Amino acid sequence: MNILKNFFIEKCPKCNDVLVNKTHTLTAQIIKFCPNGHYEKEFHPALESYIETKKA
Ligand SMILES: [Zn+2]
Repeated sequence: MNILKNFFIEKCPKCNDVLVNKTHTLTAQIIKFCPNGHYEKEFHPALESYIETKKA
């Protein structure tokens, strides 16, 4: 089972690079993004979910 591993190590669906973590200083939202700018997702504590952004 790779589910747990995949939860912690998340990769860009496009280039397969490991996503970089960043915490928004004002809102404390957790942002994970592809270092090559393909993909981004934000964790919204109020919604308890991620909002994904795929870039072309
Ligand atoms: Zn990428």
